[in-house]
Amino acid sequence: MTRHFDLVCIGGGSGGVASANRAASYGAKVALIEGGRLGGTCVNVGCVPKKIMWTAGQMAHTIEDAAAYGFSVPPHEFRWDRLKAARDAYVANLNGAYERYLRGNKVEIIRGYARFVDARTVEVEGERITADHVLVAVGGTPRIPDIPGAMLGITSDGYFELETQPDRMAIVGGGYIAVEVAGLMRALGSEVTQFLRRDHVLHDFDPMLRTNLQEHMLADGIRQVTGFHPARVERDDAGLWLIGEDRSRHGPFDCVLWAIGRKPVTAALAPEAAGLPTDDNGVIPVDRFQDTPVPGIHAVGDVTGHHELTPVAIAAGRRLADRLFGGMAGRHLDYENIATVVFSHPPIGTVGLTEPQAVARHGADVKIYETRFTPMSHGFTQRTVKTAMKLVVAGSEERVVGCHVIGPGADEMLQGFAVAVKMGATKRQFDDTVAIHPTASEEMVTMKTARDARREV
Ligand code: FAD
Ligand code: NDP
Repeated sequence: MTRHFDLVCIGGGSGGVASANRAASYGAKVALIEGGRLGGTCVNVGCVPKKIMWTAGQMAHTIEDAAAYGFSVPPHEFRWDRLKAARDAYVANLNGAYERYLRGNKVEIIRGYARFVDARTVEVEGERITADHVLVAVGGTPRIPDIPGAMLGITSDGYFELETQPDRMAIVGGGYIAVEVAGLMRALGSEVTQFLRRDHVLHDFDPMLRTNLQEHMLADGIRQVTGFHPARVERDDAGLWLIGEDRSRHGPFDCVLWAIGRKPVTAALAPEAAGLPTDDNGVIPVDRFQDTPVPGIHAVGDVTGHHELTPVAIAAGRRLADRLFGGMAGRHLDYENIATVVFSHPPIGTVGLTEPQAVARHGADVKIYETRFTPMSHGFTQRTVKTAMKLVVAGSEERVVGCHVIGPGADEMLQGFAVAVKMGATKRQFDDTVAIHPTASEEMVTMKTARDARREV
């Protein structure tokens, strides 16, 4: 007999789990289909294990800085295998917690990979299931370049399987994953060479963030090869070699990591059986209500192709459930002013428009406030670390339309400022907020334009 549900979520990652739980909390009859591990990318091969690795990198830096604070640090070693075992156990525990939570909410968990039979029917492991609403939340997978030897390299998924620490690591890409892994691996002692096709990292970010991060990365000893387009990977007794289209040859490396973006995993889903369109990359188009062009089929998260971030998938999934089953007509996610953190060393926090985006939107009405300083915690450490901040304001009322920070603590600093930007706060309101001292974030409420700062010196 075919089982029928109010909602079937395909994919048990950030978006699917959040939507299933929220819908079930309204009394909907919900099934969640997951072919891999519960929690999806974020829990298993994304945010969670990455943040643990980033924290390990932070600890390595703290140990390095401790001498300046009077500590004599005894010789110590870093054990990759111990950290990996602890990290894997933590993730396994989260997989269990996700399962318990779903079961507690009476969500039916169905194991296996789903494919569409028609717009209301999916098939999993030979069983057909029908639903009034189907949510596609199948996420994405890392891209691998179509070049000879590419399979000698690994992706971020393979990175989390490494049993030993690579001494010599090549990282191709200049986006989130590339700069995060480069920073933490260097902090943990690996030799890191990053291959960029442009001359800068984090192309879509404010230029101030890019410049400051690149400066820190180079100072930390990360080598960067710019204008590089990979053509081939080869292996010999010495290790792996990366060869560029310009025939330049780099290596040997113990590991080559592809960090060149991700693509949705829609092909195996047979979307055409449901009449569901996808673009050339496999992205499923949705409107602001997360509705696809096929009535009753919705999509959230990475599969929709924009803002590939866990809280975005969660927020979109919950709002969809609120609208479909919680009686909240019109509820949807507003994709403006979504804050994001890059867990580089040091971290970046950013929300709103970059300076070039603001100028394109508001023209001459844009004003820039910025500052760069040595945070007190690094006032006398051997390792030089700077903090840089920028506020982009627009209009005569100087509404803050962009807020960008790089420096220690930027990751934890930004959430509150993101609320202010979302609420439409003005520079005057920032300035009227009494500072918390001594902190780095107090600079955010005392910032000047470059010209005014020069006048006061
Ligand atoms: P996913 O979490 O990918 O879940 C999709 C699930 O669907 C998977 O479990 C998959 O097995 C399952 N599935 C696929 N096809 C089928 C099928 N046919 N049938 C059944 N199940 C199927 N975001 C942040 O906000 N902060 C971070 O710090 C951060 N760090 C990251 C670090 C890395 C290395 C990576 C790769 C990503 C990171 N992200 C981060 C992004 C974040 O992980 C994703 O945006 C988020 O997981 C997307 O959620 P989702 O629900 O769309 O998809
Ligand atoms: P990104 O989109 O962030 O970066 C991709 C990078 O790969 C860019 O620098 C791009 O260069 C480069 N690139 C693309 N194609 C090629 C190619 N053929 N050869 C060489 N370089 C290439 O993708 P990531 O894989 O780093 O991460 C995927 C997504 O996951 C992110 O966009 C983000 O949304 C999410 N994520 C979020 C994190 C967080 O919130 N902290 C952490 C990690 C991931 P170019 O600049 O020239 O386009």
